Amino acid sequence: MINLTITEALKKLKSKEISATELTKAYLNRIDQYGKDLNCYITVTPERALSDAAASDARYAAGTSLPLDGLPIGMKDLFATKGIRTTAASRMLENFIPQYESTVSQKFIDAGTVLLGKTNLDEFAMGTFSKTSYFGAPINPWQMERKLTAGGSSGGATSAIASGLAIGGTGTDTGGSIRFPSAITGLVGMKPTYGLCSRWGCVAFASSLDTPGPIARTVDDAALLLSAMAGHDEKDSTSASAGFHAHTPLEPILGDGKKLRIGVIKEFANVEVSQDMKRLFEARIADLKSIGAEIVEVSIPNILNALAAYYIIAPAEASSNLARYDGMRYGLRVEGENIYDTFKKTRAAGFGEEVQRRMIVGTAVLSSESYEVYFMQAARVRRMISDSFNKAFNECDLIICPASAGTAMPLDSDLTPLEYYALDLFTVAMNLAGIPACSVPAGLAENGLPLGVQVVGKRFDDMRVLQLAKHIEQFAGVDNRPTKIMGK
Ligand code: GLN
Repeated sequence: MINLTITEALKKLKSKEISATELTKAYLNRIDQYGKDLNCYITVTPERALSDAAASDARYAAGTSLPLDGLPIGMKDLFATKGIRTTAASRMLENFIPQYESTVSQKFIDAGTVLLGKTNLDEFAMGTFSKTSYFGAPINPWQMERKLTAGGSSGGATSAIASGLAIGGTGTDTGGSIRFPSAITGLVGMKPTYGLCSRWGCVAFASSLDTPGPIARTVDDAALLLSAMAGHDEKDSTSASAGFHAHTPLEPILGDGKKLRIGVIKEFANVEVSQDMKRLFEARIADLKSIGAEIVEVSIPNILNALAAYYIIAPAEASSNLARYDGMRYGLRVEGENIYDTFKKTRAAGFGEEVQRRMIVGTAVLSSESYEVYFMQAARVRRMISDSFNKAFNECDLIICPASAGTAMPLDSDLTPLEYYALDLFTVAMNLAGIPACSVPAGLAENGLPLGVQVVGKRFDDMRVLQLAKHIEQFAGVDNRPTKIMGK
């Protein structure tokens, strides 16, 4: 049962071949078996899951089933869930129990899903290997004995979904946190257009970049999850008025004489990637050509400066967003001699090293001496990148590029902070521009590990992004069934 995709499970639930309770129990058993070793959940919610499943079964019996009824999912532990601990993987919020439900998790409730638990992540979603989590890093189920990273920051979600500990789930992508972990675990991860999914009730990292989105095993599954997550929300002032509604299977946009111009980014051609990535990228391009795609070179002149701009803007916004964790209102408090001392002691004890680094960088770039030199300059680069993408989309319909330079690395790789930041090279520009990008399996490397490519579109072209991703998925044919990945 664990190997069923969302699409397959929904069919069996509707035909009553399986019940939501059976499906949920299968997942809970597997979480019992492998959850600790994989460390993909911070909190498991078995009672909630079983009561959600019972409600689903009642709806199926009454003929009043909801769009995603009975699907057992994992919610990234950045989304506030009413009455259920929400930690952001930080000691600061270790015991925080929200009094409210985030818009995205509420939409999943409204769609009938079953909540298995809250998935692990980098602390406040700052990181690339999920190693900054206060609860320790999740493990990639591919070649599990090697203890590879499942990526970050949504690494708990990708670890859980690839191993069959959730049928699908949510992530958030501020600079690549849905796409990078999905790519190195053989999954489909969609960062939608900024504003398509509400940020309300999602613990803030960098508000102008934070983008909730779905992670699943197939493109159709991701499209179904996104349909449930998306939609206008008056509680989020940056929420778009547009919605997203997919009917699956998604319709092909190539083949049968259909034409499509696919852009390849000139500036990425000189970026070093592994031989495997090169080979798979070229193979998928050849496949798309064979069904009618025309490949055009497009230029995003400032794209190699996207990292520098991102690592100014994201910490700046984070330093402001995280100012609220002062030991006064909620979360950890370490008493000091006076109020300032309490602030200091609380923040020193509650935040890990990477979060503290970003608070310092963010505060520095926002200070009056460096605001013009750093922050305004980064904002200009951001605008230029966004304009260049707009121009590029006059010359092509969609863009494809690698999602990462190589396969999953061992968790104990000893990288400097800057080396971690550099891993985001292929993903951050899309956040700066607010455009949709989907990472989809491109094939397996020689070492047997999966690699992904991204499909990128203009704002609100999320549907076509997914449609093209589906063609790539079919050509790549990566077998990502959990029992295949885990060998059990
Ligand atoms: N790796 C990036 C960072 O550390 C992206 C994180 C994210 O998208 N949340 O900021």
